[in-house]
Amino acid sequence: MVKRDGFWFCFDDTRCKTCKALCCIGEGYVFLTNEDIERISEFLGLKREDFLKTYTRKVFGKIALIDLVIKGEKRCVFLDDNYRCEIYPVRPKQCESFPFWEKFKELSLNKLKKLCPAIEECR
Ligand code: SF4
Repeated sequence: MVKRDGFWFCFDDTRCKTCKALCCIGEGYVFLTNEDIERISEFLGLKREDFLKTYTRKVFGKIALIDLVIKGEKRCVFLDDNYRCEIYPVRPKQCESFPFWEKFKELSLNKLKKLCPAIEECR
């Protein structure tokens, strides 16, 4: 179980292997920090400007990854056909910290489980 100080829930990361990446599919945005942009560009062997042009867009004045719509399903541009992240070693901070987001502290376990079935109560 992965736990984080200050959170009432934890999650079983062993279940990610069989999950169809609910955290990478559907509505929502993956916002990037400057560090994310540097790390991912380098990982992909791209210049920063080329990475930004190919894989990102501006949302609410911030830089976010683009999505693809495949068979009616909106999914992150880096999610592969096997529901694995193609940039996992350098994935954005927002992804790395999932599901330990401040706003999730207010949600019920039922709502959290709809976002990520591997979340459990761990008080
Ligand atoms: S960058 Fe990787 S972990 Fe983050 S949403 Fe995209 S596929 Fe998922």
